[in-house]
Parts: sequence; structure tokens; C-alpha cells
Amino acid sequence: MSAVLAEIGSARRFWAPALETQSRADWDALKLDRLRRHLRHAAEGSPYYRAAFAAAGVGPEDLRTLDDLRRFPTLDKRTLRDRQLAVPPLGDILAVPERDVVYVCASSGSTGVPTASPFTAEDFDDWIDYEARQFWSSGLRPDDRYGHALNLSLFVGGPCVLGAQRLGALSVHAGTLPSERLLQIAQQFRLTALWTTPSYAWYLGETALKQGLDPRRDLQVRRLFVAGEPGGSIPQTRQRIEALWGAKVYDYYGLSDIFGSCAGMCERQDGLHWAEDHIHWEVLDAAGEPVHEGERGELVLTTLTKRARPMIRFRTGDIVSFTTEPCRCGRTSARLLGVHGRLDDMLIVKGVNLFPSDVEAVVRRFAEFNGEYRLVVERVQHLDRLTVEVETAPGLAGDAPGLAGRFAHALKSASGVSAEVRLLAPETLPRATHKARRVDDRRGALWG
Ligand SMILES: [Zn+2]
Repeated sequence: MSAVLAEIGSARRFWAPALETQSRADWDALKLDRLRRHLRHAAEGSPYYRAAFAAAGVGPEDLRTLDDLRRFPTLDKRTLRDRQLAVPPLGDILAVPERDVVYVCASSGSTGVPTASPFTAEDFDDWIDYEARQFWSSGLRPDDRYGHALNLSLFVGGPCVLGAQRLGALSVHAGTLPSERLLQIAQQFRLTALWTTPSYAWYLGETALKQGLDPRRDLQVRRLFVAGEPGGSIPQTRQRIEALWGAKVYDYYGLSDIFGSCAGMCERQDGLHWAEDHIHWEVLDAAGEPVHEGERGELVLTTLTKRARPMIRFRTGDIVSFTTEPCRCGRTSARLLGVHGRLDDMLIVKGVNLFPSDVEAVVRRFAEFNGEYRLVVERVQHLDRLTVEVETAPGLAGDAPGLAGRFAHALKSASGVSAEVRLLAPETLPRATHKARRVDDRRGALWG
């Protein structure tokens, strides 16, 4: 490729222009067509779906509009695990002969038994292509040097690195390494982009500073892709990581049972563009009814192309909100506005639903804090007591007057929950190298 052509290629705005800018009606038509075929494939190939559809009295021929999908039964993580144990090794939700499966990743989840997520060669290729498209929308280009610092072992985020390669970026498969080593690699290869979790991005930046390296000056990382925790979609968290690194932070969302990345932020950083050509989304309330656009509900996903193991109405347990308003970048795909938490993480404190991300948004508003916090929930004489432990920023002299009170007040206005506030010296709480543990619920059974 000549230098001029390479430059034109790098300036290209969209990876797949016709697809990415089509009308909402065209998106719906594409999804309906793919969904019809996918339901037939599921019913023909998977003993599980044949039985589940028959039990619900529905079949692929009943799908005339996208709304008709609501007549089909949902499935959850427990079902995936149970079917895998009943018909090992991959379960009978599998809709292709096992010889067609070329790759599995796995997730342990809270159930303790790793569930395998199988892919055919075509599925795997779709995933890489989607990943390349998504990286392109976040501004990654062939002249970038991309470091992949997510777990590579069985983890669904592992092969995402291949999307950066397909796009043409130089890719370094770092995986999870000790921070000093990762910083060394970032320097040595002059990495311009890095993918990690938000809490680790923060930790790595702090570690660099301790070593006398200023990420803004001494490293060349200008794009951070983050996933695995809500932080990347909390503006206050994102801005603090961006200030620490002198880099832009792009949030990504993925799920081992579906795709490595189902959605990611474009350069506008205004919600996460959803992979609507591969995955249909629903956002439902506790009664299973769709919520209005922008409102919070559980994310329920249906694959449209994944041949190995179609997922029809998979309940993710993630509490999200969506919009179909066109983005200022020109893309028309629906956008995930945020993952507000997991149903499993949702705390009910004094009868109020509370997610750690709600608290985090308030913590990050205070310059007097360094961003690290933990929620401790106890039951004292049959009453819930929430304590927010929060680290102060380095150099804050003693107890800043009124700080705990101001924070408690801000938290109460934002979330409706009253909390005790305990100010801690910097570096008191354990640091995360992968996902931060933000909740210490000492009440015993959460729902008990
Ligand atoms: Zn956009």
C-alpha cells in the first residue's frame, strides 16, 4: 500500500459505512430477517430449543415482528450450566455437530462451575470482524501499537486482540502481567493503546507515578479501552483515568456467553454502540415487560448469527439502559447508555435499590478523594447499616473539615440512601489487579 493510500485508509470514518449508518427501519428489517433464520437454526439443531419451544407452544414460524420474540421462553446462566452438566462437554443447547466447534471460552460466574461458550469458525470470524469495526469507531488505526492487558486464558476478552490485528494495528498480547512488567512493555514497544479494566487502569497509572513515570509524559498511551466493570461508563471515573493518563477512555461491554465485545464507545464517548447485526437486545422490568427507552431494566440478549450455540432470550442479570437516538458520530446503531450494575450486585439497603456504581459516581465528584471506596453493609438489630469507606487523596491534611458530612449529604441526594462515612488514609483498601471488589455485605443471605 502506498503512503498516500494508507493515509486515506486511516482517515476513513467508518469500518462498514453502509451498515453503520443505515436507518433504524433498515436495522429492524436486518434483525428480523436474521432472527427468523436463527430461530429455525436453533429449533433444527438444538434438542434443548426444540423442547423449550414446544413446551412454550411457539415455533420459528410464529415470529412475524421483532416483538413476537417475547412469546419465546428466556434462559439464564443456571440453564446453561445444567444443560452442560446433563450433556457434557458442551450441552444440548449446542446447535451444530461438535466437530464444527473450533473454539471455546469459559466463565466461572457465581455458580462455581465454568460454563463453556462455543464458537464455529464463522462465529469466531464474525467476532473478530465486529471487534475490528468497534476498535475503528474508537479511533484505533493501523499505525497504532495496541497492548492487550486483559486475561488471555479461557477469558472471552482474550481473542479481542485479534480484532486489533485485523484492523492492522501492531498488537502485543500481554495478558495479565505484574504492573512493573506491563509498564516496561508499554515503554519498550511505545504502546499507543491499551485494553484493561477501569480499576486496573487507575492502579497501573498510580503505579507508574510511584516509579517516577508520568503516564502523560513518559508513556505514549493515548487510548485506553476498558471493560468488565461499570467505571468506564461513569463520566467522573472516566475523566479521572483520562486525566491520570492523558488518554481517552473508551468503555466496552462483552459477555462470555455471547461475544467478546457486544458494544463499545465511539470517539464521541456517548454510550456504547451495540452490535445489532449480531445481537438483538431487550431491556425488561421485573415483570418481563419492556421498559421505556432510557429507563433501567435487565438486559436480555438474543444472538442473530452465532451458529454454535444460539442464545435465545438470555437473561444477563445486567441492569442497563439504552437509546436508539442517532449518535453525533453518524452511526445509527442503538447505544447502551451504561451498565448500572448486576442484579447479583444490587444491594437493597433500607428498602432502596443501590448499585456500587451509584456510589462511585458520587465518590468521583470529590477532588478530596482518590477514587477508591468500599461499601460495607451490616444488619444491626434487624436494621441495615451502610458504611461507605472512602480513601482521601494524598496530601489531604488530617480530616478535611466537614468532608464526611458533605459526602454523606451528596450520596443521600443522589441515591436516597443514608450512609455512615469512614474516611481512610490513601492505600488502605486492597487494590484490584483485575476487578475491584466494592461490596462487603455482612448481612448473610442477601435476599434473606
Ligand atoms: Zn457514536
